[in-house]
Amino acid sequence: MATPSNVKKHDVMIIGTGMTGMAAALFAAQQRLDTVQAGITGEINFASGLLDLFGVHPVSRGCVLTDPWRGLAKLIQDEPLHPYAKLEINTIRMAMRRFVDFLAKADYPYSFHPDEKNLNVITPAGTIKPTYGVPHTMQKGAQALALKQSCLLVDFKGLKGYSARQIALALAHRWPNLKTVRLEFPDLSGELYTERMARSLEEPQARKKLAQAVLPHIENASAVGFPSILGVYRTKDVLQDLERLLGVNVFEIPTMLPTVTGLRLREIFEQHLPAMGVQINFQQRVLACDHLPGGHFRLHIGNEKVNCHVLAKAVILASGRFLGKGLRADRNGIHETLFNLPVHQPSQRSGWHHKDLFHQAGHPINRSGVQVDKYFRPANCQGRVLHEHLFAAGSILAHQDWIRQKCGSGLAIATAYAAVKACKNLVD
Ligand SMILES: Cc1cc2nc3c(=O)[nH]c(=O)nc-3n(C[C@H](O)[C@H](O)[C@H](O)COP(=O)(O)OP(=O)(O)OC[C@H]3O[C@@H](n4cnc5c(N)ncnc54)[C@H](O)[C@@H]3O)c2cc1C
Repeated sequence: MATPSNVKKHDVMIIGTGMTGMAAALFAAQQRLDTVQAGITGEINFASGLLDLFGVHPVSRGCVLTDPWRGLAKLIQDEPLHPYAKLEINTIRMAMRRFVDFLAKADYPYSFHPDEKNLNVITPAGTIKPTYGVPHTMQKGAQALALKQSCLLVDFKGLKGYSARQIALALAHRWPNLKTVRLEFPDLSGELYTERMARSLEEPQARKKLAQAVLPHIENASAVGFPSILGVYRTKDVLQDLERLLGVNVFEIPTMLPTVTGLRLREIFEQHLPAMGVQINFQQRVLACDHLPGGHFRLHIGNEKVNCHVLAKAVILASGRFLGKGLRADRNGIHETLFNLPVHQPSQRSGWHHKDLFHQAGHPINRSGVQVDKYFRPANCQGRVLHEHLFAAGSILAHQDWIRQKCGSGLAIATAYAAVKACKNLVD
């Protein structure tokens, strides 16, 4: 299909609508770049809502960091190939600040440790993990855990994958003051889904009924923890209202997938980015890409078939790893799916995994990915840049293991920021 010569050429095409793609689109719009984006927006529904900046280093010793900034300074020395090592600490700080400022303006503020250290939060399995920022709905949970306050944890009949009792049992040795109760959720029956529960709590009447059911169980608890169901759009109202009705602090604990915390982020980006001028091709993928003279691109967008073409001066590839489909593994190796970029990977398939599933250092396959130069342009193993106008950011990058290093969102946001900055310098 030919592209008519009068088709508009955008400054940048962002491939991906996960955390990295959304952050890149936000920063590009803030830089007044004419931005177009495509991706399957459902991916961000997996986000726990926690903003991990840097939680474990070195992973081979499982050292949990209390101060992520000191940890980053050490990482930059220890792992010069890590994507974070291509950034100044101040750039990472600025990226995080811009991202959370945007969320605060969208009425979904995040909370941080007063000294910018990591916070400890409870997971749905009843373990404790370090993270840098939590949605305001989780703030009092981090506080209650730090102070070992007496708390009531609530769960609901019909809500699968979340057990207050299991959380309390798993935490008993570290947080003994936990009581639990299982309740019927007002006016919903059968199998419960967190999204429906959250939407229902946007209504004051549902909150009143829920508070009435919880009140008899509070006794001497100074806080009540719910699964993450405290609204989708009006989380501040839901939280304040429940605290008023219950007379104690209220907080959320993350749930298993898909999460309401991810849905909230998705809704915020989907509402705000178009208003900031970003043209999003929802639920569509880039199926192929042609290189044009001058280093520009023609991208073929659609699902099974091509629906439209986009011309762009630059591309930011934020297509993720195996789950996002930015990388694909087969018997011959690991491949980048769209541009066929070289992928840094173990020389043989037998080197992808250690024999021990829980090997402390993590499996080599998790550090595979696309290598980039200091401007986040994909490069080959000799460091030669492959395309001046192509940038890559987020979890697709090589030499990082965001799951073990507990740096998923931080890496996504900081590298998106750096890629947009480099892209802006190029197209201006
Ligand atoms: C289960 C789970 C739990 C997590 N928990 C946390 C946590 O507690 N704290 C934390 O900080 N982080 C967490 N994260 C990680 C965090 O969300 C990461 O930042 C994220 O996974 C990496 O994002 P990404 O955008 O680079 O990749 P992905 O999220 O994989 O997104 C890739 C995007 O690219 C799109 N794409 C791929 N190919 C194409 C194509 N050809 N055309 C168009 N679009 C394409 C996909 O549709 C998708 O939108 C979690 C992630 C998962 C999956």
